Amino acid sequence: MSLRGLRLLLLGCVLLIGFSLVGVFGGVLVEIALVITLGALLASLYLLQRITERVQAHQDRLQTLQMEQEALTLELNRRHRRHITLLEGLPIPLMIGERDATLRFVNHTALEWFGYRPMTGKSLLALTFSYDLYVLYLRAVRRRAHTVSEVTLSFPQERHVVATVWFIGELDHTELFAIALLDKSELVRLEQVRRDFVANVSHEFRTPLASIRALAETILHDDQMPAETRNRFLNLIIQETERLTRIAEDLLILSRAEALPPTKEPLDLNTVVRNTLSQVQAEAEKAKITIESHLQEPLIVPANRDQMVQVVLNLLTNAIRYNKPEGKIWVRTFTRDHEAVLEVQDTGIGIPSEDLPRIFERFYRVDKTRSRETGGTGLGLAIVKHIVESHGGRVEVESEYRVGSTFRVVLPLGAPLSAE
Ligand code: ADP
Repeated sequence: MSLRGLRLLLLGCVLLIGFSLVGVFGGVLVEIALVITLGALLASLYLLQRITERVQAHQDRLQTLQMEQEALTLELNRRHRRHITLLEGLPIPLMIGERDATLRFVNHTALEWFGYRPMTGKSLLALTFSYDLYVLYLRAVRRRAHTVSEVTLSFPQERHVVATVWFIGELDHTELFAIALLDKSELVRLEQVRRDFVANVSHEFRTPLASIRALAETILHDDQMPAETRNRFLNLIIQETERLTRIAEDLLILSRAEALPPTKEPLDLNTVVRNTLSQVQAEAEKAKITIESHLQEPLIVPANRDQMVQVVLNLLTNAIRYNKPEGKIWVRTFTRDHEAVLEVQDTGIGIPSEDLPRIFERFYRVDKTRSRETGGTGLGLAIVKHIVESHGGRVEVESEYRVGSTFRVVLPLGAPLSAE
């Protein structure tokens, strides 16, 4: 169309020149020539105007397209940054690599796991030091398929992970694969704890049950057994049954404490201590042990009454049972750094330093025979620790072998009770 316009313009000009010449030579025709020339001129001007408009429209369209392209590029960049932020922020290690396991992208968690080193352009093997992971990656590349496997990492610490590798597409004619790791270490540890616990519980039940059975069978098969022996055996059966009951009760206390967070009330710790002291007084007197108490009043903690009684009772009975004859026990309560402290110190047999870190484990006993003789279940301190921690507190212990031990329960302080 623009070409046609130009042609018309040219024609207009030729006519103008032609008629001008005619005008020069033919006097009558001058006016007609002028009219035609003017017409051609106007037509040319009109066409020029149209062409200019069209060029302007094309320019506007081009500008709009450019603006749209810029907006699209901006949006693409924004999306790309969003994806990178998403991958960076993932709480699991994620890496993207080429066919030969050369890394193109390593997210923040992966760097946190394997140490902050510049990893882009390096091999997956150089980052993770795991040959198993490297082999898994190459296998996924070969098959070009989603591949999942459990792998144990040893650098920089041992971790049991589920590793997944998958093909994510091509970039600049290079195939890219992603590898993500899911840490299962805590699950593996918990599973081990559960297995140990079940094994320990069965063992704890099996021993007294075996004794009960052996004693009962002996009584059953020996008609001539003297009454005195039979009574001794029957008493042993009763003792073993009581032991089983104690274990079952302690297990129940522990599982109840684990099942729900404690329902707390403002509790005077000193009242709990005084009540529990009167409960254990007879046992202490029997073992010729004196108990001294130094209680700082008032000491209010937000706590569950029954559970706190259990804590104080377990610590006091241990201090009596693992004490020396005519030993001493000091019970103290006080505040320290805005926390309530309950301290039970004894002049007992003490705990060897190598056993100290394990005494809060379920069924762990330093001296099995003594624990058994004194009616221990091996669960007392595990219960103490669990209850105290579920109250937001902690348990501390100091002990010197053959000299004595100090157990300390530290709890968050509550508001003082208003006077009634
Ligand atoms: P147990 O029922 O055997 O007393 P605990 O969980 O209460 O179990 O205690 C675990 C072990 O810690 C005990 O078997 C004992 O060896 C040691 N222990 C606990 N308290 C004391 C203490 N006050 N003095 C010395 N040893 C203690």
